[in-house]
Formats: sequence, structure tokens, C-alpha cells
Amino acid sequence: MNTVKTYKATCHCGAVEMKVTLPNGITAPSRCDCSYCRRRGTIVVETGLENMEIMKGAESLTLYQFHTETAQHYFCKICGINTHHKQRMNPNRFSINVGCLEGINPFDLGSVPTNDGINHPSDGDGS
Ligand SMILES: [Zn+2]
Repeated sequence: MNTVKTYKATCHCGAVEMKVTLPNGITAPSRCDCSYCRRRGTIVVETGLENMEIMKGAESLTLYQFHTETAQHYFCKICGINTHHKQRMNPNRFSINVGCLEGINPFDLGSVPTNDGINHPSDGDGS
């Protein structure tokens, strides 16, 4: 089944604009309970590094790293919105903030599983 979707993604103030391609649409959105994600509370979807392009505002993005400094968390330095991060688990993938995708309300996604970021990454079953 081919449900490739391409979205425009923006931070809140609009300084940062990205083009995000999701080869399978919004499938398997997740949250994470690691020390960083539990504070920011975003719901993310994954996509390959080649599927995200920064169209505008790269200079407005700031990088935040902690702990092993493997994951790269990007946020807009003007409005503070976390747009995406490069994963620690799989550095070939980005996790994109679903709330930044144009036309998508993350609260419409229903129950979203939480990854066990505290202990080890695993797919929660969401139940
Ligand atoms: Zn912004």
C-alpha cells in the first residue's frame, strides 16, 4: 500500500519551514518518556533523513544535545518549538514533531503509545 504523503512543516513563528515526506503517511506516531521528551511532550513520527528538507530558516534552528550527545534535538531559537530530532537509536532517521505538520492536529490521532525512553527504546503497544 502506497500512502506517501508530503507535508509542509513549520515552527510556531514561521521562521522555520520544512518539507517532510512520510512514505507511509502518519503511521506509528509515538511519544517518549526520556528526560527530555517528558518535558517537551511532543508526539513524533519517523522518517528517513532523505525525507526531510529545510526549505527556510535553517539559521533559526538551534541544536540541543545531552547525555550521550548522539541525538540531535533541533528547535527554533525564536519561538522555541522543537521541529525535529535526529534519533539516537537510528541516526539514519528523523523524528518529526507531528504538531508542526500543516493540517494535522496531533490530538486527533487518538491514543499514542509512549516509548520507554527511560530504560530502553521499545515499541509500546499503546494499551
Ligand atoms: Zn519559530
